[in-house]
Amino acid sequence: MKINFNQPHLTGKEAHYMYEAVFAGKLSGNGKFTKACQAWFEQRYGFRKCLLTTSGTDALEMCAMLCNLQPGDEVIVPSYTFVSTALAFLREGAKVVFADSMHRNPNIDAEKLEQLITPRTRVIVPVHYAGVACDMDAIMAVAKRYNLLVVEDAAQAIDSYYLSRTVAAGSPEKIESKKPLGAIGHLAAFSFHETKNITSGGEGGLLVVNDEQMVRRAEIIWEKGTNRAEFFRGEVNKYGWVDMGSSFLPSEVNAAFLWAQLENIDDIQAKRKQLWNRYYERLQPLAEKGWFSLPDIPEYATCNAHMFYLVLPSLEARTALISYLKANDVLAVFHYLSLHSSEYYRSKHDGRELPECDRYADCLVRLPLFYDLSPEQVDTICELIGKGEWLKVKG
Ligand SMILES: *Cc1c(COP(=O)(O)O)cnc(C)c1O
Repeated sequence: MKINFNQPHLTGKEAHYMYEAVFAGKLSGNGKFTKACQAWFEQRYGFRKCLLTTSGTDALEMCAMLCNLQPGDEVIVPSYTFVSTALAFLREGAKVVFADSMHRNPNIDAEKLEQLITPRTRVIVPVHYAGVACDMDAIMAVAKRYNLLVVEDAAQAIDSYYLSRTVAAGSPEKIESKKPLGAIGHLAAFSFHETKNITSGGEGGLLVVNDEQMVRRAEIIWEKGTNRAEFFRGEVNKYGWVDMGSSFLPSEVNAAFLWAQLENIDDIQAKRKQLWNRYYERLQPLAEKGWFSLPDIPEYATCNAHMFYLVLPSLEARTALISYLKANDVLAVFHYLSLHSSEYYRSKHDGRELPECDRYADCLVRLPLFYDLSPEQVDTICELIGKGEWLKVKG
């Protein structure tokens, strides 16, 4: 039987809550389910202010608007990411400066950030690839030194954490604190697209505002540039057009779908982690033989089992593995192409080479990982890979 790359999971109550939303007589945004979801995120993760959006891309666009960029302002974005991470800022007139990945994993290389900073730099956008934290202590330190904003692209990073180890003054002891991804930068964006760990029914997202000073403006931008939210709370006696904005709120039907997923998030995460760990154990002996490398979880990061990827030694080896798996009814897929050399951006890029990004573009492959995948199917996939047939194919 064919094994898909991804399959959206239904927890059981999605249609029930959607039915409830439909018959509650209020379908537009910011109703009962929207408010319940937003409060849930604020309570569980300590996010200062949450606003549901119609996509992760929309949440990133709101972040870019909230950064109040002027023409010529520069924004540092990894090149190994989805188009929306860069596009959201480009639309606001910013110049996107692409950064390379680390060698150990595809996340932005915090040690090389400082050399990209100019007097025009305003924002750094770390992307937590595969839900694995970027080195946020290092990134926040650079941001503080140069007075920059930090926008976390946490699209893949729900329920994942950054482990901060600080040494207390006068004590050799390290104090560990566990911060949810999305709670560290000034702003953050999550996605609830059907390929992510939890979904709001296909398309959806969440804006997180951690900087108190941006909360009011975020609500206005969310509601088409009006102060409607303040009006509904009874804080003003009429509402009108006060700023820039757009229609970023999702319908109650989407929020109702998401609510069913939030009620089951611990179960979803436990199952995904079980499958992720099984892949890791089964494939470790092959990684030790040098066939590929396994996902890297740094000491400061947790695994939210968003993705299981392998990094092959060459593009030829990756192509051979993908075709061999496909011939055996298993859909494994590669991921991003380097944005700095994309058709749209390459003439705007400053010509710097980003070799680690290019290596992930050529060599990274993602294996099927979704809630309804069975442990036996993981075993089947690992056995197929372990036969090594694909190693014999030369590009
Ligand atoms: C999925 C994703 C997005 C876009 O989210 P949508 O909800 O599809 O708009 C942005 N950035 C990253 C890193 C993503 O994985």
